[in-house]
Amino acid sequence: MSTPGIKASLLIHPEELDRTWIHRCTDMNLTGLALHPVGGADAHQSLAAMLELLDQPGYRQLLDEAADAGLDIEYEMHALRYLLPKDLFEKHPDWFRMNQDGQRTADFNFCVTNHEAMDYVAKNAANLVKKLYRSSSRYFLWMDDVGTAACCCPNCSQYSPSEQQLMVMNRILQELQKDNPHATLAHLAYTGCLQAPEKVKPLPGIFLEYAPFDRDFHRPITDDCAKNTAQWQPLEKLLQVFGCDTAKVLDYWLDNSLYSQWTKPPKSFQADDAVIQADFQAYYALGFRDFSSFACYLGKDYTDLYGEPDLSAFERAYQDVKEKH
Ligand SMILES: [Zn+2]
Repeated sequence: MSTPGIKASLLIHPEELDRTWIHRCTDMNLTGLALHPVGGADAHQSLAAMLELLDQPGYRQLLDEAADAGLDIEYEMHALRYLLPKDLFEKHPDWFRMNQDGQRTADFNFCVTNHEAMDYVAKNAANLVKKLYRSSSRYFLWMDDVGTAACCCPNCSQYSPSEQQLMVMNRILQELQKDNPHATLAHLAYTGCLQAPEKVKPLPGIFLEYAPFDRDFHRPITDDCAKNTAQWQPLEKLLQVFGCDTAKVLDYWLDNSLYSQWTKPPKSFQADDAVIQADFQAYYALGFRDFSSFACYLGKDYTDLYGEPDLSAFERAYQDVKEKH
């Protein structure tokens, strides 16, 4: 078996895609460019807006150029509320999650032991990925963008938030693989889903995506501060459950939307070179071969204000890991 290479990619908001971004990615020899519609409680709307963009010939042309330049095109998004719209609540309240007060609510996620709801979500996911223009076969259809919003009904409550997510991803993957046997799907270890699932096992084709959102962004991920320890500790178990070969880090090194508190106009951005270097080395040592970062709020509105952002810290860290490999 050949040794898999090192991969690196950046996630940007769909409306930020332009030729500048394509050139940035190819100049850094990245392997991929991912579109990430804005998360939060309105993620279903930003996903729908992205799908409208994907219908426009000019936008498709940009994606053609990116793909033809050798970049894997991927789509990473909080998709659950899009896949199971709120307006189904009136007809099917039992499809939606039960909160800790015992009330069914359409706020986030859903009742994952309800088979009708699960089938609905899976079929809608298969329809959604058909609209992801030039997408690679690696999919990212995350649960809603919220710390912990698991279903607390008597059937679901035996499963942790992470296990509930994995039940959904397993089911969606089965549906995607009916159309594309090569389809793979991310399990997002993030906020309330950082702990490795135990009662539910990943089907072949599920891979780990690790996004340490609650970390301290200005200390290396292996720093022994409380925040980073809490993010780092679950990793060993996660990698045991999901395997290293396909695992992908999604960090926040270049996430100027985070550093701008998700409010435009973007703030001036300065990457933390030392942290990026240390993190790449630490993730590599643990077995990760795929490195990605959000890089939102660095589009044209950013360059109009501040000029070209300095992404060289990411490029250097990626280069160093490639040389080591
Ligand atoms: Zn439930």
